Amino acid sequence: MRFFDRALDNGRSIRVRTTDRSDGDFAIGGVALELEDRRRHVIDRPWLWLHQVHGAEVVVLDDRAIDFVCGASADASVTGRTDVALSIQTADCVPIALWSDDGVIAAVHAGWRGLEAGVIETAVTELRSQSAGSLYAFVGPSIGPECYEFGDADLDRLVNRFGNEVRSETTDGRPALDVRSGVRLELARLGVVLESEDIDCTACNEQLFSHRARAETQRQAMVVWIEES
Ligand SMILES: [Zn+2]
Repeated sequence: MRFFDRALDNGRSIRVRTTDRSDGDFAIGGVALELEDRRRHVIDRPWLWLHQVHGAEVVVLDDRAIDFVCGASADASVTGRTDVALSIQTADCVPIALWSDDGVIAAVHAGWRGLEAGVIETAVTELRSQSAGSLYAFVGPSIGPECYEFGDADLDRLVNRFGNEVRSETTDGRPALDVRSGVRLELARLGVVLESEDIDCTACNEQLFSHRARAETQRQAMVVWIEES
């Protein structure tokens, strides 16, 4: 498991954890009790999880019971609550935690489809509607460009949208997408400060699950929460 903590001005702190193979499988649809056990081992509080659909929908957890929001079809969640944790499960896509310096948080699932659909922007817009503070980001491990061969037509479209920095090459010289660059560019465009980026590649590092490299169905989790003290 990887750890990232950041103190806020109000005495609270942001905690982010990203799991690896040794923490087990966080894919939705496994044995529910075992999944709950794994989650509670990472952080012992209710997890808000999503049925991720590679879109741009964001769900907001206000003071409703978490069960009304868990399992929603969406790729980002936002809350200011301190009694829950927001989670994303990934294999090669980019997990992103966002927070405002007055303590509203978001968890975002951004593969290339979500990036193109604008999921980072919808999450940032929701955060800004709840907070006037500055926004910060943590970016977790995802597939690196050296391992992410990509079709020319899709790549050209993404280059047009985000800029030439997203065009890259695999280690054997094939066209590749640098999805992390797309995330960095989008965060910068939206005025979000990138505090921490984990550039470990899910395909290269066998401690991480990869759909692209190993056709694995398991998922790692990224979870973010607000600690009161
Ligand atoms: Zn790689």
